[in-house]
Amino acid sequence: MTHRGIVRRVFLVGCAILIAGVWSAHAQPADGVPADTVLLNGKIVQFDAPYVDALAVRDGRVVALGASADIARHVGPNTRTVDLGGRTVIPGLIDSHIHAIRAGLTYTGEVHWIGARSIPEALDRLRAAAKTAPPGSWLVVAGGWTERQFTEARRPTRAEIAQAAPDHHVYVQLLYTAVLVSEGGLEKLGIPNDTELASRLTVESGPDGKPSGWIAADNRTISELFDRLPRPDFDSQVAGTRAFFRTLNGLGITGVLDPGGYNLPLEAYRALFRVWREGGLTLRVAYSLCAPRRDHELEDFRALTAMLPMGFGDDWLRFNGIGENVTWGMYNNETPTDTQKERLYETLTWAAARGLTATFHWQNERSVHHLLEVLERVNRDTPVAPLRWSIAHLNDASPDSLGRMKQMGVGWLMQNAFYFRGEAFLGQRGADAMRLAPPIGSALRMGLNIGGGTDAHRVMSYNPFVSLQWMLDGKTVGGTPSRMADETPTRLEALRLYNPGQRLVRP
Ligand SMILES: [Zn+2]
Repeated sequence: MTHRGIVRRVFLVGCAILIAGVWSAHAQPADGVPADTVLLNGKIVQFDAPYVDALAVRDGRVVALGASADIARHVGPNTRTVDLGGRTVIPGLIDSHIHAIRAGLTYTGEVHWIGARSIPEALDRLRAAAKTAPPGSWLVVAGGWTERQFTEARRPTRAEIAQAAPDHHVYVQLLYTAVLVSEGGLEKLGIPNDTELASRLTVESGPDGKPSGWIAADNRTISELFDRLPRPDFDSQVAGTRAFFRTLNGLGITGVLDPGGYNLPLEAYRALFRVWREGGLTLRVAYSLCAPRRDHELEDFRALTAMLPMGFGDDWLRFNGIGENVTWGMYNNETPTDTQKERLYETLTWAAARGLTATFHWQNERSVHHLLEVLERVNRDTPVAPLRWSIAHLNDASPDSLGRMKQMGVGWLMQNAFYFRGEAFLGQRGADAMRLAPPIGSALRMGLNIGGGTDAHRVMSYNPFVSLQWMLDGKTVGGTPSRMADETPTRLEALRLYNPGQRLVRP
C-alpha cells in the first residue's frame, strides 16, 4: 500500500501508547518520578498549540510536552527513550465510522486484497491461504478492494480463482455490488433451493456468453449470501478481534466508532465483550446498536436499552446509542412513505427523551431531505444538539443540507468512499459535481462537527492514511484527481477530522 506523501512525513508513536484524548500540555510532574517513555528531537503535533519537539509519557498518559532539553529530565534508568530525528508525531487516530467489530470476527480466516496492486498479487494471497486451509473449506475475500487498484484494471476471472485455489470453495465480494463464487459454490451454499433469494441474483455473462461466475446483487442480497458462509467459531472470532485491532493500532488507530451494520446480529458482539472483559482491548470502542428487526425497531430498542443507558461502559468500551440503521424503512430509503417517516419520528422522539445518541446511514443528497425533515421535527420538540447525532456518508452533500445539519447540531461522518467509487460518481454526475464532493472545505467553514473515517472493511481499506491522503489530494485509487482546492482540508484539519474525540463520543 502506498500512502504517498503524508506517511513519509509522519512517524507514529509506538502503538501500545494510547495517547488520544489526553493531549493537553501539563506542567512537569512535581514528584520527580521518571517517565515510562520519552520522545525527543521531533515535531509533536498539537491541535490547539504550536509544535513542540519532545514529550514524556507515564502510565499511558502524556505528562509533559516541551523542548527536548527540558523533557530529557524525565528520563530515568528504566525509561524508553526515542530519538525522533526530526520526525513528526501525531495524536492517535479515531475512525468515526468503521465496521471494526464485524471485521474482527472473520479477520484471521479471511483473505485480504487490501492494497494488492495486481491480479497476480491478489491471487498469490489466495494461493497462500489455500496452502493452510483444509481442502474443501471456504476461502473468503470479504471486500476492501476494487478492480481499479489492479494494474490490469479488471476483476479476476473464475478460471484464475480456480487455478489459485483448485481444492477450495472461494467467495470474493466486490464492495456491495457483486460476488464471484467458485464452480459449485452456490450449490454448496444452498442458493438454488432458495428460489426467492436466487431470483434477486443477476448472473453475469463473459465474452463467450456463458456465465462468468460473477453475480450482481444489491446490498441486502449480498449480505444474505455472506450469511450463508460458515461462521468462524467463537475462539477464532476472539482471536480475529484481537488481531484486527492490533492491525489498526499498527496504523495509528487508537479509537473507533462502530456503527453496527449488516451481518452483525446481537450475539455476534460476544467476541468483542470477551476481549474487553479480559482487559485485551487495544482500541477504544464506542459501539452503536442497529435495529435488529424490521418493523419492531422501537420495541427492540426499548427492551435492549432498558439496562443499557447511554454512555454505559468504560474508557475502552462504551455504548454509543442507536444506528446506523435506526428504522429499516428510513435506512437510506430514497422514496419513504409517510408511515415510514412517522416510525422514525416516534423512535427518535423516544431516543431523544432517553438522551441517546443516534447515527444515520444516508448516501445521497437527492433524498436526504426526507431524513432531515424528520430530524427537524424531533428537534422542534427536543433540541438534539446535546445528543451528538450524526449522518454518515452523504458524499455529495449540498451546502443547504449541511446548513440544516449545522442548525440542529447534527454532525457529519465522512469517509473516503470516492477513493474507490470516484470514477463511477464522475460518470454519473459529471466533473462539476465531482469537484465539490465531498464538500469538506464548505463543512469546515460552516463549523460543522465532522468525523473522518473509512467505512472499512467491506467497502474500503481500513488504512487511515489512505483516507487522509485522499482528503488532501482527492485522487482515486485509479489516479483520477477530483475535488477542488476550496473543498480540500489542510493537513492539520484532516488530522483533526480523525480526532473528533469528545465532540462526537459522549464522555
Ligand atoms: Zn453506512
